[in-house]
Amino acid sequence: MTDREAEEIRLFGIGGSPGICIGKAYLVDKGSVDVVRRYTPEKKDLKSEVKRFKAAVKKTRDELLGIIENTPEELRQHVYVFETHLQLLKDKMLYGSTMDTIEREHVNAEWALKKNIARIRSMFQDINDAYLKERALDIVHVGDRILGNLMGAAPVNLADINARVILVAKDLSPSETSQINLKKIKGFVTDRGGKTSHTSIIARTLEIPAVLGLENATRVVKNDDLLVVDGLAGILIVHPTEATLVDFEERSMNYEAHRSAFIRDSHLPATTRDGVSVQVLGNIEQPEEAHAAIKYGADGIGLYRTEFQYLSRANFPSEQELFVHYRDTVKALSPRPVTIRTLDINGDKAIQGANNGKAEENPALGMRAIRYCLKKEAIFTTQLRAILRAAAHGDIRILFPMISSIDEILAAKNLLQKVTAELKTQGVPYDAAVSVGVMIEVPAAVHIAEELAREVDFFSIGTNDLIQYTLAIDRNNKEVAYLYQPMHPAILRMLKHITQVAARTGTRVCICGEMAGEPLYTPVLLGLGVREFSLLPQNIPPVKSLLRILSAAETAGLAAEILSFPSARDVVDLLHRRYGGLLEDKADETPAAHP
Ligand code: PEP
Ligand code: MG
Repeated sequence: MTDREAEEIRLFGIGGSPGICIGKAYLVDKGSVDVVRRYTPEKKDLKSEVKRFKAAVKKTRDELLGIIENTPEELRQHVYVFETHLQLLKDKMLYGSTMDTIEREHVNAEWALKKNIARIRSMFQDINDAYLKERALDIVHVGDRILGNLMGAAPVNLADINARVILVAKDLSPSETSQINLKKIKGFVTDRGGKTSHTSIIARTLEIPAVLGLENATRVVKNDDLLVVDGLAGILIVHPTEATLVDFEERSMNYEAHRSAFIRDSHLPATTRDGVSVQVLGNIEQPEEAHAAIKYGADGIGLYRTEFQYLSRANFPSEQELFVHYRDTVKALSPRPVTIRTLDINGDKAIQGANNGKAEENPALGMRAIRYCLKKEAIFTTQLRAILRAAAHGDIRILFPMISSIDEILAAKNLLQKVTAELKTQGVPYDAAVSVGVMIEVPAAVHIAEELAREVDFFSIGTNDLIQYTLAIDRNNKEVAYLYQPMHPAILRMLKHITQVAARTGTRVCICGEMAGEPLYTPVLLGLGVREFSLLPQNIPPVKSLLRILSAAETAGLAAEILSFPSARDVVDLLHRRYGGLLEDKADETPAAHP
């Protein structure tokens, strides 16, 4: 049966990298390695299994070093992934447990390793945290590579792909991605993975459309099937009909036309029709994203989430490692400012063993962010030292997360002073003239904003958490997602209060929650007096272009009007009525505002 005769199938996954592509499928079938269990009662056999395992780990280490050395220039910034893999080779969960299983259960190395890979995979299966899941996948990738070496299996030869295809795989490890001649790839489709997986990071960097987390794409798709990949909506279409092809060809052309126009204009300042200047900054989580932020026209970084470097690894990063990350970021963005938020782990970004190994019953209300940092002074001061040292290389601002009282900000500032004095005595170059800000993301902070303003230079409103804590909605619970309403009157009135306090006290105010990247809310935020927006770099072009056609005075009228509305629905209806036409193009360009 040809593609045209086969029935069209639509699969829905996660949009990993925006854009639309149409092409033939190239199925990467790695097959499953058949591992048999061998019982090894003799001591000498045990020794030889341990030796074989160690030799396979060494071989994997050499392979990874080879990959690092041969990574092409355009992917150089992703080398850290392989460096992480190198560190994971000796990870306790993988290396330690496999050695343990060989010795305790008297089994062959392959069996012990496969058993531990399966255990790690299932342990992380139901975890909501995207970072943790991805880092667990890293361990699994490393384990698979060692297993391949143990069994003498030939690696998948992705380097042989020589036609422009759409790659369909269960999962692609970074080392596999690095073998591919990416110029040959039109799109990526995988069963596993999510927005923060390496495949999607690489796809976004290279601007290749990708749909991930499709679960059964490799079962549905056959080699050479005609596919449509919509990386924005997260849709894969197999055997598209003629009508679908025409539709998506048109969408693809529109998307490209909009994107180039947006990107071109995105380097212009975001000045409203009535001359009010607005700063549009980027939210990033890794230094490599600095380039995307510049490309999409960011005026700087309004939120650099620093958790990424602490998650799923055996040891926390050293001061030097952090310093290099921060310095490289600020240098890449210079002369633009970079706002580094101190560690916000736990809550939805839990690290294993963070709470002395005990799971918290209510992690979002527990030992998270500043609370954790003030308790773990050594971890906190290591990061503060790295930030102050990096500040000597550009315009860095420090942002403290989850502040709920004056005591916390005073304690954090005290530590900052202590660290400054240490650096001075030690003669280490640093810059102490960094401005200091607080996240306004706990309702209590809204109510003590006046007092907080006396202690800091700026506010950054974290609406993801502010909405979660104000409306009592777990931001990761799909069941209550319908109640997650950025336009809820309680939220709007809080935002108004903050911008009023900020104006009265001369405190800068930025908004960095996901709603800042949703064009539907841009008129509201502008009207409420927000003059700094910080959002996902890819969302900057549509938000900037919208800001340029809005009038600050007109939106102030809108804000005054909606502040008395009784429900979010009323506000959203009005926004659609009033801005629907303007938003039509732009809404298509942006992901939903739910974090
Ligand atoms: C927020 O809470 O809005 C925010 C920007 O921080 P995070 O999403 O990292 O909690
Ligand atoms: Mg937050």
